[in-house]
Amino acid sequence: MIKEKIQQTAKNIFEDVVANRRHLHSHPELSFHEVETSAFVARKLEELGLEYHKMANTGLVALLKGDKPSDQVVALRADMDALPILEANDVPYKSQNPGVMHACGHDVHTSSLLGVAKILTGLKSEFGGTVKFIFQPAEEKLPGGASLMIQEGVLENPKPAAVIGQHVMPLIDAGKVGFRAGKYMASTDELYVTVRGKGGHGAQPQQNVDPVIITAHIITALQTIVSRYADPKSPSVLSFGKVIANGATNVIPNEVYLEGTFRTMDEKWRSEAHIKIKKMAEGIAESMGGSCEFNIMKGYPFLINEEKLTASTRAHAEEYLGKENVLDLDIWMAAEDFAYYSQAADSCFYRLGTRNESRGITSSVHTPTFDVEESALEQSVGLMAYLAVKQLGN
Ligand SMILES: [Zn+2]
Ligand SMILES: [Zn+2]
Repeated sequence: MIKEKIQQTAKNIFEDVVANRRHLHSHPELSFHEVETSAFVARKLEELGLEYHKMANTGLVALLKGDKPSDQVVALRADMDALPILEANDVPYKSQNPGVMHACGHDVHTSSLLGVAKILTGLKSEFGGTVKFIFQPAEEKLPGGASLMIQEGVLENPKPAAVIGQHVMPLIDAGKVGFRAGKYMASTDELYVTVRGKGGHGAQPQQNVDPVIITAHIITALQTIVSRYADPKSPSVLSFGKVIANGATNVIPNEVYLEGTFRTMDEKWRSEAHIKIKKMAEGIAESMGGSCEFNIMKGYPFLINEEKLTASTRAHAEEYLGKENVLDLDIWMAAEDFAYYSQAADSCFYRLGTRNESRGITSSVHTPTFDVEESALEQSVGLMAYLAVKQLGN
């Protein structure tokens, strides 16, 4: 039985996977600068005798064909970049590149995919079909490594019928995984706004055009984009996290600067909302005698898990891990560049539990104390290998 063979191999290579994860964790590199990481992955693929191609500078793609006859293709994706965070964990595998940290678990994704490649290379005679391994750069930074890899043809020659990706989740206990069919993560757009007026003495408002009061109206009014214009059945979020009015108790400034985010799960509404947001802000500023320069920087699209693929993948996960270890996920309004694959091909993005409360491993991703329960790596590599061979019809 292929399942038992995968489970046994996952056990056998577990320490090797952990060693690779620790190596990557202690040598993190920022988005689009994954030079050593890419060379490390290339070396490991060479050790396995797998041919690879470079893409999007530091990205790699490798193919493994099972010995049984089949022209099915499945793609598995890992991201390789780290974040500009100073690691606060005191662990033997702590980041040796101060100010850069694998705080989103991409070290886990990369070492896991290498582990999957190792398992499946060893079991080549047991399955049919082709597995495409995608190691992409820069998930954390626009325009996103995924979009560049797709532009450079990662989903062609051969074209995968499905793309499967995983992401660590510190909210789920190690040993468990989570799935959600349909819309799962949001599109993300960045908002950069300058509101201009005419500054002056705070005691003589009649001689000024106060950009602070204009900004206050804009922020409040823009909440109606979500509460009055968006379809309540489809989630939207509009938040401003930065507002700078550099005046004083008695000084009205000339301008106010704002930064925010707009997230949703519907492309048509997303473009309509962009127009409405700009128009509303500019209209308010103008009606109050000021002006507003509203720039929207488009980020990743929303992520959709194809229903049928996700149902079958989830069922295979239940076979591999047991029903009790497969959970349902809620919608998550964060963004992820895996969304680009999901817009281009049938895709499934699931979550790998990495929490261990008894060892204090509970910190959220993108924090200086983020870490993972490494025992999860055994399920991570075994499950992904199993999902791939099942998806290929074995
Ligand atoms: Zn992240
Ligand atoms: Zn991530």
